[in-house]
Amino acid sequence: MKIDVSSIVKTNGASLAVKFNQEIAELKDVDSEVVFDEVVNFEGTLLNSSGVLKLAGNLKVGFTVKCSRCIKDIQNKMELKVKEDILEDSEKVDNEAYTYNNNYILIDSILKDNIILNLPVKQVCDESCKGLCPKCGTNLNEGTCDCKEENINPQMEVLRKFFEN
Ligand SMILES: [Zn+2]
Ligand SMILES: [Zn+2]
Repeated sequence: MKIDVSSIVKTNGASLAVKFNQEIAELKDVDSEVVFDEVVNFEGTLLNSSGVLKLAGNLKVGFTVKCSRCIKDIQNKMELKVKEDILEDSEKVDNEAYTYNNNYILIDSILKDNIILNLPVKQVCDESCKGLCPKCGTNLNEGTCDCKEENINPQMEVLRKFFEN
């Protein structure tokens, strides 16, 4: 979404309310494990501080992620504060910086970057989730399997029986 900043770029101290409520297409290719199935909501302001546009506000988005142990879908929500400086585009500006030119900014990539930086690394559906059996794939929250017993070395089994008696 383009935000027209022409009303504030010439005046130090001028500000503008920013509302964003739509999907960000680039989020779809971020990570196959995370699905963004809701619109991104952002409300904040843009303030001209000596030619630097300071974006500040609150971002909310819902997403679905798989439990890292049992791959069940987990509905999750992210809420975070966004604070970014947007510089007037010129040769001197670092490539990494957000810039504005022709009196507008593109806010999507700024919000997208903030979301990606705050994605949880690993999520579990429950701290006590037992996950899937690495051998047969049985969901150990729902049932048991016989894999563990097969793993026991027959010689060890003899010893174990010996000590039991
Ligand atoms: Zn789980
Ligand atoms: Zn198993």
